[in-house]
Amino acid sequence: MDRTPRALLARLAALRAADLPVRGGRTMAYVYDSGLPGVDELAQAAHAAFAGVNGLDMTAFPSVVTLENDVVGQAAELLGGGPGTVGVFTSGGTESCLLAVLTAREHARRRGVTAPELVLPATAHAAFHKAAKLFGLTPVSVPVDPRTFRVRAEDVDAALTARTALVVVSAPSYAHGVVDPVAAVAAAAARHGVLCHVDACIGGWHLGHLRRAAQAPAEGAGEEPGVAQQEARVPEFDLSVPGVSSLSVDLHKYAYTPKGASVLLFRDAELRRHGWFAHAAWPGYPVVNATLQGTKSAGPLAAAWAVLRHIGPDGYAELSRRVHTATRRLVDGIGGIEGLYVLGAPDASLVAVASGDPELHPFVLADEMRLLGWYLQPQPSFAGSPSNVHLTVTAAVAAPERIDELLAALAVAARRARRTGPPAVDPALVGLAATLDPDTLGPAEVALALDAAGVGADGALPPRGAPVLAVLEALPPRLSERLLPEVVSRLYGG
Ligand SMILES: *Cc1c(COP(=O)(O)O)cnc(C)c1O
Repeated sequence: MDRTPRALLARLAALRAADLPVRGGRTMAYVYDSGLPGVDELAQAAHAAFAGVNGLDMTAFPSVVTLENDVVGQAAELLGGGPGTVGVFTSGGTESCLLAVLTAREHARRRGVTAPELVLPATAHAAFHKAAKLFGLTPVSVPVDPRTFRVRAEDVDAALTARTALVVVSAPSYAHGVVDPVAAVAAAAARHGVLCHVDACIGGWHLGHLRRAAQAPAEGAGEEPGVAQQEARVPEFDLSVPGVSSLSVDLHKYAYTPKGASVLLFRDAELRRHGWFAHAAWPGYPVVNATLQGTKSAGPLAAAWAVLRHIGPDGYAELSRRVHTATRRLVDGIGGIEGLYVLGAPDASLVAVASGDPELHPFVLADEMRLLGWYLQPQPSFAGSPSNVHLTVTAAVAAPERIDELLAALAVAARRARRTGPPAVDPALVGLAATLDPDTLGPAEVALALDAAGVGADGALPPRGAPVLAVLEALPPRLSERLLPEVVSRLYGG
């Protein structure tokens, strides 16, 4: 292989060509594009300047303390923080959620809770199940209202016990983009003396700025009639709500900073300290870790700081307003496409689109959209939520002409998907799957199942995802959880 920098960079560029685009607003999951000129260049320069700085030791690199305090302070100010509010800058939403749970578990231990439980809506992010698994808590899943997809406070209340270490609510949930009744749940938690975490990973930055925009309408706010009223309806969700003890907000989502940036806020430093790890009983340097990582690049922190300061509150308010208007237009437009409907009433910028027509399957719709140059994320049916496709509206998608394009593409894709018909799942396969015990499944049976689902020996998936997803959806979740890692293992040579 040619080792010159130029050749290696060319190779990297060639590899990227097979990926989804990260800019341009047609990839409606995983990536967040402000669409603003110069933001990426600024972020990259800041990232590069701090890439080698190690956030492991803040005494050796005091710049990280200054930057982190500033970024955390901006998040606290936006999201209802008071004088005692403190926080931690983390590598992303998953790490923020993990640390919220770890902190609550340690806090509960101090109260003598030895078998801690994590009470969470069925719609809570998977990161909380990961936390429960890693940190030894029992997840107690509370079903949500099948029509609104919001958890009911009385159901959460009924699930609280003396062992509950933490209650989680979403603002909004990833799958349906709806905000749980934060105030009512937090009040119930407070009555039981239990901590309450608001997962505002995806929506916190957007909703916070949308609310701010409504409170102080900026120039141009009058252009869109009805928007101000909508903005005023941002539900209560942040640290100012009595009973809320922590909140996570990702900057690498609606703050449009490079990946590796999230903030976990705590109501006070006393709570935060339960999540920290200190170790002096080894021959090396004295250790204090506020996060799960040891050595960590300050690149994402510096980039986040620069982007936050550059776009600024007014800039974010404008982006939030645009995203909000575009999401309303999108929701209205989808209502006009035969067969499609929106699940629940989205509170933020995430829209889940299902089908009322058995001939028009959402997974096939996603395949057809991909062929038209749009990536929408398929979401399998679960606990009363039917199969659907998920659309994340970011600022780059929010231009009026882009929403028109998207709606036109959806109408075309819906027609084509109806013509293709729903994916067929072999009932014999499903019947067989029902008899399998995921815990005792051997390598030969796993291989057979993956082959039957159309997964290649190298982990490659067929160009059309619908048939594989339909099989996956038909399997019990525990069996899917056994098979999915095997698909990934094949990709990595296993
Ligand atoms: C994205 C997200 C997370 C997890 O964040 P990552 O940055 O992907 O690790 C947690 N909760 C919600 C609601 C999210 O949307």
